[in-house]
Amino acid sequence: MNKTIALMLALLATQASAGTVPGSLDVQWNEGATDCTATPQPPLQVHAYEPQTFVLRQNPCASFEANFLYLLIGSERALLIDTGALADPAQMPLAETVLGLLPERAGARMPLVVAHSHGHQDHRAGDPQFASLPSVEVVATDPASVQAFFGIDPWPGTGSVDLGDRMVRVVAAPGHHPAQVVFHDDRTGLVLTGDFLLPGRLLVDDAVAYRASAQRVIDFLGARPVTHVLGGHIEMDAAGGLYGYGSRHHPGERRLELTKADLLALPAVFAEFNGFYSRHANFAITNPIRNLTAMAIAALAVLALAIWGLVRFLRRRRK
Ligand SMILES: [Zn+2]
Ligand SMILES: [Zn+2]
Repeated sequence: MNKTIALMLALLATQASAGTVPGSLDVQWNEGATDCTATPQPPLQVHAYEPQTFVLRQNPCASFEANFLYLLIGSERALLIDTGALADPAQMPLAETVLGLLPERAGARMPLVVAHSHGHQDHRAGDPQFASLPSVEVVATDPASVQAFFGIDPWPGTGSVDLGDRMVRVVAAPGHHPAQVVFHDDRTGLVLTGDFLLPGRLLVDDAVAYRASAQRVIDFLGARPVTHVLGGHIEMDAAGGLYGYGSRHHPGERRLELTKADLLALPAVFAEFNGFYSRHANFAITNPIRNLTAMAIAALAVLALAIWGLVRFLRRRRK
């Protein structure tokens, strides 16, 4: 390769993540087990992406949801995004683990904000563990509380939280849940998406809102550096096959991280979405309620046809 071209490419690569602190996702997440009682697993796995950024993963044996939680530490305070699927500290020692990761400031533990990607139970069940702790603020999961805390005005729009030398931007992204938000961390360039975008099933509650949110997030990120897009779950293996719903065993799990390209692909995959299902190599868009309703209608139709056939058969026999 020509030296000038090589230099230009190197320059472009550094510009893409300009100013962000590098981190590592070189980690093997615990995959759970087919028989969890026979194979005891530690409930929580902690990975330091870099000294001020932690990825925590709840074991598939502790909860099939196997949530990923994120702890971002600034110079003044820390932000925990999501508290996972389990409330009982005996089963899931979340608060104890998170507090143990917080540095000291002026002889005291650094203040902590507990916020959420969205309000589904598997992302906030651990909240009570933090409720009565000193220097800990738990942000409620209704849109009004999320809007007020992050200064998102109007809703759905954008806001932010300053952790001290670390700004975290917040984009309202309803569609999966009315108070879903997406975080962008200026320190690392990480985009934390909860259930809005993850390697697995994107469950659509409001398709119109979801589509608009995808565009809002893309527009907001624009030229901002994006190093990795990290969601709330992994639901597929490395070959792209989806695990069965409720599976506590994730053999050959796909990597957690998605890319900016995956995010940019969302509008096109939505354009293919017929209200039921649409598939991308790294995720699937689906509407579970619609699919269930369609299946129920199909089952009723089959049943009605069977009864009609039976009645006809009996009538003929009588003749
Ligand atoms: Zn959810
Ligand atoms: Zn979830």
